[in-house]
Amino acid sequence: MDLKIFERMESEVRGYIRSFPVIFSKAQGSELIDERGRRYIDFFSGAGTLNYGHNNPLLRDRLVDYLASDGVVHGLDMATSAKKYFLQTLDRLILKPRGLNYKAQFTGPTGTNAVEAALKLVRQVKGRQNVIAFTHGFHGVSGGSLATTANQKFRVAAGVALGNTSFMPFDGYFGPDVNTMAYLERLLDDPGSGLDRPAAVIVETIQGEGGVNVASQGWLRELEHLCRSHDMLLVVDDIQVGCGRTGHFFSFESSGISPDIVTLSKSLSGFGLPMSLVLIRPELDIWKPGAHSGTFRGNNLAFVTASQAMESYWTDTGLSERVAAKECFVRDWLENLVHSCRGAGLSVRGRGLIQGLATPAGDDLAQRIARRAFEQGLVIETSGARDEVLKVLPALTIPHELLGRGLEILERSTNDVLESLGRIPRMLKAAG
Ligand SMILES: *Cc1c(COP(=O)(O)O)cnc(C)c1O
Repeated sequence: MDLKIFERMESEVRGYIRSFPVIFSKAQGSELIDERGRRYIDFFSGAGTLNYGHNNPLLRDRLVDYLASDGVVHGLDMATSAKKYFLQTLDRLILKPRGLNYKAQFTGPTGTNAVEAALKLVRQVKGRQNVIAFTHGFHGVSGGSLATTANQKFRVAAGVALGNTSFMPFDGYFGPDVNTMAYLERLLDDPGSGLDRPAAVIVETIQGEGGVNVASQGWLRELEHLCRSHDMLLVVDDIQVGCGRTGHFFSFESSGISPDIVTLSKSLSGFGLPMSLVLIRPELDIWKPGAHSGTFRGNNLAFVTASQAMESYWTDTGLSERVAAKECFVRDWLENLVHSCRGAGLSVRGRGLIQGLATPAGDDLAQRIARRAFEQGLVIETSGARDEVLKVLPALTIPHELLGRGLEILERSTNDVLESLGRIPRMLKAAG
């Protein structure tokens, strides 16, 4: 396939095109189709943006009707019928049934826009500059959110100092035997620790870009407790693992914590349309009118598909149950794979339909497996500071048969790469 125009005209900054060097022209459900008509199973889902699959017909039909009826497409942050219906639906289907009471701030359309707004607000509310973020955390690549993103690759690109953030060890950072919350508590309790008093903590319950690191429910509850006892606000960045990825609409539901602020984006529109939202505990909503603006706040097309996604998938527990069943299936498969490749140092971690196959860092194993998988028709990406974790992130709606076929390709690719590196002798594999 001829990628010359991209190489000649598109900036060197381009990324995923390098991992998947074909020209995609169509997509439906859990499959991408390239210009030659070759089909690929999608285990990447736009980094968690396509939880309901590509071009989901339920959402697409609603969108086409809206466009055909001359519904407002752009309206700054003015009131529109589409926005009204979105707010009503969010309240009725998501917030009320969970006993949640939040105000909604629409920011610019990408995830980092929501994080920027959340960070500004917590600093205003508490009148303090410092914010706690975690090792391997990812919150976006614009100034404020980049300061809370841990990965050096992104930080170095800023070219300026990124400050007002203290990084603390995430759950499991020193292995399973060290309680990193005890470390944070000690620093907060000790006036001589050198830690400036934070306005807030920003955390992902499962670090998507950082390598599928899962915070335990107990760790999250201790974090919430520390926030309350040290007058810090708790911001949960649910941009990647919210909107049903873990089987619940919000990833923190099963832990029982109540964040002060929640950021949502990626799969919120349900259709891959850009849209971001900051959910704010009402008493924290001290914004002055217009103090944080943006031309593309509230994408009306996204309101239409987001409302339809809630109506199609969040009126009963059906989707949650299907995610739980698929989680077991994927988890079993990956654990069997790890077992059959024992000695290769693989392991599995994750929750819901975000599962990571971790490889020993430093030998490009995960990237080689992803490349091999792509040759065989599977789109899968790596994550982690050294790209050492293959991230299994299929659409929540993926048909069982495609899920199985994708896992088969992943297994075959893993075996191929390990064999080619001499990590699994062929005979042992055949015997085991
Ligand atoms: C993707 C992501 C962001 C940033 O979203 P963009 O739309 O890329 O700006 C922020 N936080 C988390 C957890 C993400 O996964």
